[in-house]
Amino acid sequence: MKIIAMIPARYGASRFPGKLMQDLGGKPVIVRTYEATKETNLFDEVYVVTDSEIIFKEIELSGGKAIMSKKQHDCGTDRIAEAVEDMDIDIVVNVQGDEPFISKEGLEQVLSVYKGADADKIDLASLMTEIHDWKEISDPNCVKVIVDKENFALYFSRSPIPYPRDKNTAIQYYKHKGIYAFRKQALMDFYKLPMRTLEAAEKIECIRYLEYGKNIKMAISNTQGIEIDTPEDLVRANKVLKEENNKKSTPNNKYRNFPMVPKVVFGQGCFDQLSSILEPNRKNNAPFIFIVDDVFKENKLFSDRINLRFNDKLLFVSTKEEPKTTHIDEIVKDIKTEFNLNPSGIIGIGGGSVLDIAKAVSIMLTNKGSSADYQGWDLVKNKAIYHVGIPTISGTGAEVSRTTVLSGPKIKLGINSDFTPFDQVVLDPDLTQGVPTNQWFFTGMDCFIHCVESLNGTFLNAFSQSYGEKAYDLCKEIFLDDKLNEEESRAKLMMASWHGGMSIAYSQVGIAHAMSYGMSYVLGTKHGIGNCIVFNHLEEYYPEGVVLFRKMIAKHQIKIPTAICKNLTEDQIETMIDVALGLVPLWENALGDDWDSIMTREKLRDMYLKM
Ligand code: NAD
Ligand code: ZN
Repeated sequence: MKIIAMIPARYGASRFPGKLMQDLGGKPVIVRTYEATKETNLFDEVYVVTDSEIIFKEIELSGGKAIMSKKQHDCGTDRIAEAVEDMDIDIVVNVQGDEPFISKEGLEQVLSVYKGADADKIDLASLMTEIHDWKEISDPNCVKVIVDKENFALYFSRSPIPYPRDKNTAIQYYKHKGIYAFRKQALMDFYKLPMRTLEAAEKIECIRYLEYGKNIKMAISNTQGIEIDTPEDLVRANKVLKEENNKKSTPNNKYRNFPMVPKVVFGQGCFDQLSSILEPNRKNNAPFIFIVDDVFKENKLFSDRINLRFNDKLLFVSTKEEPKTTHIDEIVKDIKTEFNLNPSGIIGIGGGSVLDIAKAVSIMLTNKGSSADYQGWDLVKNKAIYHVGIPTISGTGAEVSRTTVLSGPKIKLGINSDFTPFDQVVLDPDLTQGVPTNQWFFTGMDCFIHCVESLNGTFLNAFSQSYGEKAYDLCKEIFLDDKLNEEESRAKLMMASWHGGMSIAYSQVGIAHAMSYGMSYVLGTKHGIGNCIVFNHLEEYYPEGVVLFRKMIAKHQIKIPTAICKNLTEDQIETMIDVALGLVPLWENALGDDWDSIMTREKLRDMYLKM
C-alpha cells in the first residue's frame, strides 16, 4: 500500500494572514510542519501543495517537495485532489499546514483503521478527541462529532451533539480534528461534487462526504498539538520549541556566533577617505550606488565630497517615513533595471533609516523575492553585496547592528542575519553637525534606551554589559553634564551609539522597543519619538532609567507627545498589541520566560491607552 502525506498550504489565511510563513524558531511554520510530518516515517512521500510562490520556494529551498496548484480552490481537499489525480497511490493523508507539532501517534491512529476487519467499507478516516469542558462543547468554533458503535461518523456539528436533555446522563463528547486519510478513489469521487445544504449551513467540509453517502471511520487520539490560529498560538509554539531546543542544546550551539563590522574608520573629516576605501572594492563596470538622505540634497558642499566615478549613482531617499519593505523592493528593482550587473557596493549615508535601507538593498540584490520574505531571524540565504554605512546622526546603533528594521505588509520586524552588518563603517562626527535639537535628542535617546533595556534584561552577560555600561555613561555625560564642548559631544555620541548597538548584539532590547514597534506600525510614529513616548511610562520596569530620562527631557526642554493612543479604533489597538506581543525575544529579555503571564493583552492595552 502506498501512503503519502499532503499538506495543503494557502498563503492568505483569513484569521491570521501569512501565518504559515511566520517565524517559528528560525524556520517558517510550514517548513516545521513539513519536517515534523516527514520525521514520523509513516509516509512514502510528503508534499506541500500550495497556491503561493513564496511557500513553494521556501519548501524547495529547505529541501522538501512542493507542488503548485493549477487552479483556484475553495478548500484544501480540492487542492489535494488536483495534486494526486495522476499519482499512483492508495492512501493520502492531509496534514494541516498550521500544525507544526503534528504527532506521530495521531497519524498512526488515523492510518490504523485501514488495517481493521472493516477496512473495505472505509472511504476515509479521520480523528476525534474526547472533550469534557462544557465551554468547549458549546463553543461553535469547536466541531463536534457523533459516531455509531463501530466509530463510523454519523454527523458533525458546531452545536453540542447529542443534545443533553437529561442532564444526569453521562455523555462522552468528541471534538473533530481536521486530519483525514482518504482512499484515493474516494477523494477523486468527491472532487468537484457541489456543496449541499448541511455543509453550507454548518460550514464544515467533511459533512459533504456524509451527504454523498461516504463512510467516515473515526479514530480516537488524545494527544494535543498546537495549531497556529492566532499570534498568541505562535508565541506559545515558539516557547514549546525553545524548551525542546534547550533540552537538545549541545556545547557547540549554546552561544551565538555573530559577525561584527570588520572595518571601521573614525575621526573628524575621515569621510574624505571614502574614495580610497571604496576603490579596491570596485568591480569592472559595476557601479557604487550611494544612497543618501535627501536632507543633503541642497547641500552642494556635502555632495561635492561624494566622489562619483564611472557609472556610480547617487540616489537621494526621503526619510519622511521609516523604511518599508515595498520601498526596498522598488529600489532593488530600479537598480536591476538600470544596470545589468550587480553593483560593486551600496553606500548608505544618513540616519538609522538610510543605514537600514542600504543594508536591506544590499541583501535583496542577491536574494530573490520580496524583502518581506526575509523579515525575521536568519532567513537570508545568500551573502549580501559589499555595503558601507556612514551615519550622519547618532544613536540607533544601526551602523553596527545585525539587523535592518522594516515595516512589512504584516509586521514591523528586522531582517536579522549574518549578512546584514556592514562590511565597512565610516564614523565622522562632523557629519552630524546640523542635526536639529529635537531630532538629536530623540535619536540619542534611542541609544540610552537600548542600554537601559540591555542592562536590565535577562539576557545580559559580561559582553553586553561592558558595551552597555560604557554607552550608558557616555549618554549621561552628553545629555546631563555641562562639561563637553559640541565637538566632543558629537564624537562621544557617535561612540555611544556604537557601544549601544554592540550591547544589544548579544542581548536584546526590551519593553520600550516592543511597544514602540506596535505604535509605529499602526500610527507611523518614528522610532526615536515612539521610544520616548513609551519609555516615559515605564517607571515600573526601568525605574532608574526613567528618572534620568526625565531629567534629560527637562534639561533640553523637549516636549514628548501625549495622548496619541486616545482616539484609536478597537482594530488599531488590537493590531498594536499583536505587533508588540509578536516580538517574543524582546519580552523574554525584559521579563523572563514567563513574560506572557506578566504582560497580558489587557495590561498592554491599559498601558497603550495611557500614552
Ligand atoms: P532617521 O534616519 O529617520 O533620521 C531622522 C531625521 O534626521 C531625518 O529627517 C533626517 O533627514 C535627519 N538627518 C539625518 N542626518 C542629518 C544631518 N546630519 N543633519 C540634519 N538632519 C539630519 O532617524 P534615526 O533616528 O537615525 O533612525 C531611525 C530609524 O532607525 C528607524 O527606522 C529605526 O527603525 C531604525 N533603527 C535601526 C536599528 C538597527 O539596528 N538597524 C536600530 C535602531 C533604530
Ligand atoms: Zn532602537
